[in-house]
Amino acid sequence: MKVTLLTYTPDAEKAVAAAARLCYSATDACDLYEGMDDEKAEKLLQKLVKSGHYSPFEHANFTFAIDGISRACSHQLVRHRLASYSQKSQRYVKEKAFDYVVPASIRRDEERLKKYEALMQQIQDCYDELVEDGVQAEDARYLLPNACETNIVVTMNARELRHFFALRCCSRAQWEIRAMANAMLKLTQEAAPLLFEGAGPSCISQGICYEGDMCCKKGLVEIRRR
Ligand SMILES: Cc1cc2nc3c(=O)[nH]c(=O)nc-3n(C[C@H](O)[C@H](O)[C@H](O)COP(=O)(O)OP(=O)(O)OC[C@H]3O[C@@H](n4cnc5c(N)ncnc54)[C@H](O)[C@@H]3O)c2cc1C
Repeated sequence: MKVTLLTYTPDAEKAVAAAARLCYSATDACDLYEGMDDEKAEKLLQKLVKSGHYSPFEHANFTFAIDGISRACSHQLVRHRLASYSQKSQRYVKEKAFDYVVPASIRRDEERLKKYEALMQQIQDCYDELVEDGVQAEDARYLLPNACETNIVVTMNARELRHFFALRCCSRAQWEIRAMANAMLKLTQEAAPLLFEGAGPSCISQGICYEGDMCCKKGLVEIRRR
């Protein structure tokens, strides 16, 4: 899996701070933006995070290229509706030698891995045969497994990203989407540390675990370390 932050709103923190300031000011947004220095922005953004006043965070967008995740993972990702997606098409791009994700639980056992790889090869052979026989890629793809790799571009605003991290950086989230979410969290915290201050699984970002009996019970120190 490769996760890249392709682009994001320039001066994202300043833009969000100016938008928030506008709510309580007679001055127009352009002047507030021009007059917004780092210190003012930091104070304001910290206040917003503390009070949970996240609507101004919607003015900052972050676009990621995510390559080499499974279709199982991308299916979970696209359940997040407040986002924009562009995904490699299995209608227009033929899966001539499809790559696939191998979970660690299968990779670490030689017998399991052998069976898994043999089945992937069988699927590839059958797919190729159908395509050679004139079946369109859009129909031949019905054979392809959840493991099949895909590439996707996703754009989310900072508010939705914080929500996404609360759900998907959680130990209860499935390992692949959790790895992806953790990589995205790291990139956003480097790009806009104030917007993502304290972001992460809900136990960290909101001080609450919603998992009830399924709580990982790892404790905040261990979760923070991860
Ligand atoms: C650990 C885990 C296990 C899961 N297991 C399953 C499962 O077994 N089966 C399954 O189907 N899904 C499962 N999901 C997916 C989950 O149900 C959500 O679809 C997914 O996490 C998207 O979250 P969301 O709806 O909060 O967020 P988003 O789509 O990212 O939306 C963000 C927020 O906007 C608001 N919102 C968005 N759209 C609407 C709307 N139409 N109406 C009202 N408010 C809206 C909500 O407040 C929502 O929380 C699982 C998720 C996790 C993290």
